[in-house]
Amino acid sequence: MVRKELEQYPVVNVKTDWYRVSELPHKIYAICEPYHFQEVISFLILGETSAILLDTGMGLEPIRPVVSKLTDLPVIPIMSHGHFDHIGGNYEFDSVWGWPAEATVKASQQDEIFAEDDPNIQPDAFERPVEIENYCRRAYKLNPLTEGQEFDLGGRLWKVKFIGGHSDDSVVLYNEKEKLLCTGDLIYPGPLYVKTGLKEYMDSCEKLAEKFADFTLICSHNIPLADGTLLSRVATTFGELCRGMLEGEADCRGRMYYRNEDVELLIWPGIRD
Ligand SMILES: [Zn+2]
Repeated sequence: MVRKELEQYPVVNVKTDWYRVSELPHKIYAICEPYHFQEVISFLILGETSAILLDTGMGLEPIRPVVSKLTDLPVIPIMSHGHFDHIGGNYEFDSVWGWPAEATVKASQQDEIFAEDDPNIQPDAFERPVEIENYCRRAYKLNPLTEGQEFDLGGRLWKVKFIGGHSDDSVVLYNEKEKLLCTGDLIYPGPLYVKTGLKEYMDSCEKLAEKFADFTLICSHNIPLADGTLLSRVATTFGELCRGMLEGEADCRGRMYYRNEDVELLIWPGIRD
């Protein structure tokens, strides 16, 4: 679904009917995949001498030709984390920077995962017919990121910060000068997936809220830009949840869903406290 919030940004024709590319402010392109229920967004962040590609999407169609239509600059691929919807095109690049959690290193070496192996790549996951028989997730070379690592794109400096709660390999990227924070899957408008630890997720949000409240958030699902004040609203919601102040409901997969004004949480069963 192409959300109305996306329509305010100019669309760039990249000659594909799978990706929808929006030109955001801040010299950033949002490479959206609106026809899968996850509505994942990869970002191309331009500098003067190089560009960051944050995530490589689902891998339904190659992303590299799309990126080549958007820039001639050398591209540095970085993944926000290793979930399937962020790494599909990793194999198209010589190597990809990512947080080297044990499971991520192992997963990067797995080759040939087909649609039939993944419940997320089934026909009912898509808004329209998709040739899922061509889907294949491939191995890729992982370059290990370190805390505080810097990427200088020529006039634009981005730093890496590890954050727990959504996965054990999630990072955010931030640009202090321009007050921009790429939140990956930790924070975005829509239900947040709490998959590793409740306390960890809350701590991450509190830490980010302290430092980045006046930043613009660049978010990896649904709607690409959000206000930094969302960070503290999410942290507050976690606090209320931990104090038993929120009432949730279970879904058919045993996940608990909570809503607190514009913040939604979906808590996986069996996660760490
Ligand atoms: Zn995701």
